[in-house]
Amino acid sequence: MDVVTALDRLPKVELHCHVEGTMRPGTVVELAGKNGVELRTSDPTELYRYSNLDTFLEIFWLVQSTLGSREDWARLAYESIVDGAAHGLVYRETFFTPARHLDAGQDLADIVAGLAEGLAAAEGETGVRAMLIADIDRAYGAAAGLAMVKRLVELREGASPGAERVIGVGLDSTELGVDPTDFAEAFELAGKVGLRRTSHQGEETPPSHIWAGLDVLGSERIDHGLSSLQDPELTRRLAGERIPLTVCPNSNVVIANAVPRLELHPYRRMREAGLLATLNTDDPALTDLDLGREYQSCMEAFGYRWEDMVAIALDGVEATWLDESDKRELRARVEREAAKLAAELDPPR
Ligand SMILES: [Zn+2]
Repeated sequence: MDVVTALDRLPKVELHCHVEGTMRPGTVVELAGKNGVELRTSDPTELYRYSNLDTFLEIFWLVQSTLGSREDWARLAYESIVDGAAHGLVYRETFFTPARHLDAGQDLADIVAGLAEGLAAAEGETGVRAMLIADIDRAYGAAAGLAMVKRLVELREGASPGAERVIGVGLDSTELGVDPTDFAEAFELAGKVGLRRTSHQGEETPPSHIWAGLDVLGSERIDHGLSSLQDPELTRRLAGERIPLTVCPNSNVVIANAVPRLELHPYRRMREAGLLATLNTDDPALTDLDLGREYQSCMEAFGYRWEDMVAIALDGVEATWLDESDKRELRARVEREAAKLAAELDPPR
């Protein structure tokens, strides 16, 4: 077996993946037709063409706008897991960002119920487990963020269908010109009711935003964290406390244009500095990517060996919000499968 195939089959977890960013182009076309959303092309292969972050966000918003009902969310979640399973995904904590839909009058209860239905159906078919992280969209401001968390708390308390799948809150969308501390109240409420917390920081912003994510918002993980190494004290803190970073190297090149080429991405230096930096796809359908290829391209670009990639997969397990016994079980599974794959590798390792 070649290493490319082995990396595709290696059991992997993913902690930074937006469900909207997994939508198959064909599904966008179908849902757009069903919900009366106009597309500039009906050719699925033409749909995901963008040249920079702004045109990327236009497409991301277009994808979001095709989700009109509970069934649409269910279909999206289902296909997202089925597609991940084909490339070694075994567990995912998936972001969804409902601000745009809530603003347009959808109810969070329907969105959560739909997503949970789709995940459950895919779990039954593939064995891949998946949980949800409700992301606050920075672009909609602090009041909308707080309102979303309040509604989420209501749904949990009322045992609304699917609410038990939402295990945390996050913060995403545009970073520039937004003060992360604006969202302190929403994050405080989330923490109080036992929701886990993470936030996108340091993709386009300096280390001060990562500090704020940790100390003001109480984030247990940082999504991207690309600027971490610019601050030695921050690096020591992140490494010392094993605070996970959910890094998306290919996305940083293709979407944010934060790094010109994968070889120039600081991922390897981040790990060498002791950071718990995991590998993730961010928006795989929009970047023509899957988790297998994220691992393969990073192995090649950073000169990693098979053992390094297995260590990265195991760090992914450590960074999850699973309880300790589930983590142990998953870790054992990754180690077992990795040993089997290594024995079949040609040349052998
Ligand atoms: Zn992201």
